Amino acid sequence: MKTHRKELWFRAKTRRAYINITEQVQEAIDQSGIREGLCLVNAMHISASVYINDDERGLLEDYDRWLEKLAPHEPVAQYKHNNTGEDNADAHLKRQIMGREVVVAVTQGKLDFGPWEQIFYGEFDGRRDKRVLVKIIGA
Ligand code: ZN
Repeated sequence: MKTHRKELWFRAKTRRAYINITEQVQEAIDQSGIREGLCLVNAMHISASVYINDDERGLLEDYDRWLEKLAPHEPVAQYKHNNTGEDNADAHLKRQIMGREVVVAVTQGKLDFGPWEQIFYGEFDGRRDKRVLVKIIGA
């Protein structure tokens, strides 16, 4: 069995961002040489997510509005976590609902998706360097 580990780095210019990372994950699979196996992709921060869905502008805006209704950033004083001096309690909650990681089958060297599936990095507390881990196992 082979294994391959790669970190993807991001620095979103905005507090929240939804970035399609499918090509970068496929590049990691290409580099691994693994043809059959599994690919784990996870956010390495508790204020960001990795999730799978459609790459459609309207949907990305819908996610953002929905998450802001569930856990609005403002007013920051509404959250006990922000009493620590941070202002990112909403980002922790957004990450929880959008998830930490995805696992995708690798078949004949490619991400084995259903129709329209794409991998996204969801950033909820951006404007600083953050990482996504890609780990591929197989043969
Ligand atoms: Zn925090």
